[in-house]
Order: sequence, then C-alpha cells, then structure tokens
Amino acid sequence: RVVIKTENMSFAYPDGTPALQNINMEILEGERAAIIGSNGAGKSTLFSHFNGILRPTSGLIKIDGEPASYKKDDLIKIRQKVGMVFQNPDDQLFSPTVEEDVAFGPMNLGLPDEEVEKRVEESLEAVGMMGSERKAPHHLSGGQKKRVAIAGILAMKPDIMVLDEPTTGLDPHGVEQVMDILYDLNLKKNMSIIISSHDVEMVTEFATKIFVLHGGEIIHQGTPEDIFNDP
Ligand code: ADP
Ligand code: ADP
Repeated sequence: RVVIKTENMSFAYPDGTPALQNINMEILEGERAAIIGSNGAGKSTLFSHFNGILRPTSGLIKIDGEPASYKKDDLIKIRQKVGMVFQNPDDQLFSPTVEEDVAFGPMNLGLPDEEVEKRVEESLEAVGMMGSERKAPHHLSGGQKKRVAIAGILAMKPDIMVLDEPTTGLDPHGVEQVMDILYDLNLKKNMSIIISSHDVEMVTEFATKIFVLHGGEIIHQGTPEDIFNDP
C-alpha cells in the first residue's frame, strides 16, 4: 500500500525561490525511508508538504491515495495521519511538564480524559520516558527531549512518522536510543518512518529506501546498495 505519493510536485516560496522541482516519490506502508541532501537542498520544504504545512505550487501530493486537501478539517486529518517531529525539540515542547506536553495533541482532538491518559502512558512507555511525567521538558537532556517530542506525536496515533534530522545534536547513546525507538515502531507497529539526515552511515543501516535531494530535485533514489555501491 502506498501511503505517500507525489506527482511532479514543485514548490516555490513566495519570494520566488524554487525550493522543489518535479518531485516524484512513493512511500509504502511500513517502509523506512530517508531523505539525504546538503543544507538548502529542500529537505525541510519537502517534509512540510508531507503534513500539509506547505501546499505544492504545482503537481500533487497524495496521502493514502487521496490528493491532499487543504480545508481545515482535512488538514487536521492529514496531521493526525502524518506525525511530524521537528529537528529542534524546543520548537515542539512548550508545556510545563512532560505529561502535559504529550497530552496536548490527544486533548486537542477532544478525546475523553481516560483515553488521553492511556495514550500518554503508552507513548511515554514506547520511548522509555516513564517516571518523567512531572519533569519540566526544558530540564531534560537533548536525547530525552527528542524522545518526549516523539511521544507527543505517538499520542496522536499516526500511520506515518516524519522526523527532520532526528539524531542531530545527540550524543552516541542518545542516537542509539532514538534509532531503537524508530526501529521498534516500524517493526512492531508497521509504522512508515521518513527521516532526513546528513549521517550516511546511519541512513545506510536504517533506511530501506533512500532519496538524494539536490537543489530541489531528487537526483537518486533506491536501496542503500543502489545509492552507495554505484560502480
Ligand atoms: P535547515 O537547513 O535546518 O532546514 P535552514 O537554514 O534552511 O534550516 O532554514 C532555517 C529557517 O530559515 C527555516 O525556517 C527556513 O524556512 C528559513 N529560511 C531559509 N532560507 C530562507 C530564505 N532564503 N528566505 C527566507 N527564509 C529562509
Ligand atoms: P534543507 O532543509 O535541505 O536545508 P530547505 O527546504 O530549508 O532545505 O530550503 C530549500 C531552499 O528554499 C533553500 O534555497 C532555502 O534558502 C529556501 N528557503 C527555505 N525557506 C524559505 C523561505 N521561508 N523563504 C524563501 N526561501 C526559503
């Protein structure tokens, strides 16, 4: 099953900067995909199309087979389906305590208190952050903040999780913990995971499909073997 598909998708910023050009890509259910590319290649711009923050200037993006619709109610649905974890957790964590942060999404969906509590508990468990419910997010380490940000997204029960540079700024132990969580979600819940990264070694190990973005275009795509063992 194809969960995200773009067809000749292009995007220019209002100032005219052409950030994406003729992007054709497919992400399958349960796939682990990675987007690699240098600064300015268009990774963040592309990610912002996956959950409807940005709307293509031309071409199309389909989520679960349906062309994205940008009406308010449809956008809420897209954002439930496609959870986005930003590069800097400080952009995502703003409540006084960890549990309030993780509860924010499901509360906004208007779910009953018991369901919110259940989701907070399950999500913190999935990222190994039980026991930190009452802590202030800004007192946590970078790796712990990242895990709480992931928990906040998990609490929305997305089918697809998109993470911008999930390991940047983490120490090796933090990197390992975050990657373990992503493998677990993928293998146990069949969640589709899309990451961006500069870390070629990590991406080669993690991803089943890699897209190389350069100057707003996908210049290579394939398995890690296809991409890195090109003769
Ligand atoms: P990253 O490489 O982590 O994606 P960038 O340095 O490209 O970050 O962008 C950081 C922020 O600055 C983003 O919010 C982006 O939208 C904005 N930005 C980047 N380039 C421009 C530009 N030419 N004009 C206006 N805003 C920009
Ligand atoms: P990456 O995430 O790969 O670093 P971005 O998606 O942030 O790349 O940027 C792609 C291109 O779009 C760059 O040329 C960048 O300067 C430009 N850009 C990013 N954000 C903006 C913005 N808000 N306004 C104008 N140009 C932008």
